[in-house]
Amino acid sequence: MEKHRLMAPGSPKRDEATNAVLQKLASLERAGVKQLQKPNRHKPSLPEITQQAAEPAVKLPAPTREAPPLLAAKLPIVGDTLEQIRQEVAACQCCPELASTRTQTVFGVGNPHARLCFVGEAPGADEDLKGEPFVGRAGQLLTKIIEACTLTRSEVYILNVLKCRPPGNRNPLPDEVAHCRGYLDRQLKLIQPEYICCLGTIAAQTLLQTDTPISRLRGKFHEYQGIPVLCTYHPAYLLRNPSAKKEVWADMKVLLRRLGIELENSAS
Ligand code: URA
Repeated sequence: MEKHRLMAPGSPKRDEATNAVLQKLASLERAGVKQLQKPNRHKPSLPEITQQAAEPAVKLPAPTREAPPLLAAKLPIVGDTLEQIRQEVAACQCCPELASTRTQTVFGVGNPHARLCFVGEAPGADEDLKGEPFVGRAGQLLTKIIEACTLTRSEVYILNVLKCRPPGNRNPLPDEVAHCRGYLDRQLKLIQPEYICCLGTIAAQTLLQTDTPISRLRGKFHEYQGIPVLCTYHPAYLLRNPSAKKEVWADMKVLLRRLGIELENSAS
């Protein structure tokens, strides 16, 4: 009760309280506070509370372009678009060696609403020059495989784990894969394909986060974020080992069956 009673002017208690308030104001001023807000005594009514609960408790700020690329690749960005990711990828400096040796980044190509995505490893020399995935010799073989499936490159979406060419076409390093991983996840999250086809070891092991060899992963469906994933050999491997083409074709037929695509001569 005592603390609610008004203190008489000139009383020692009132001077103490006034001094305390003045001291607090002076310290706020020193801290750069120019204005104090009147406390809001309004209590929201029940419907207001319910409405507020439907909104996110904390509004996330719009993504800033100044965010370091590594962070930008990992944060779930509100209102993400493929174009936004493409621009981040083009400016990415996460892997100093790749950033200083690339001609350009290679983002992905095809239908942004594709039912089927092909995921490869990394751009080679031709892709680095053209800025498009799978356009060299291995790419031409992939195009033939896609067409044998009665599809076109523009109907599907083609992307790689790495967006930069590793010098001399060496295998991607674990750090490089980790840096690029966020871009791949965000691309797939936006495209939301019904099926993913991983081409080769790096794509399959990266997406499925496993060490299992491609020879054991291929031919079966796995799962990535609820999306069925079929793994098969990389077209570059087929160029060196043409006899493995029959396994790839068998894998494609498994995939086509699930996609509901019928081949005219299903024995082929
Ligand atoms: N190999 C890949 O994995 N990706 C390409 O884009 C080209 C060759």
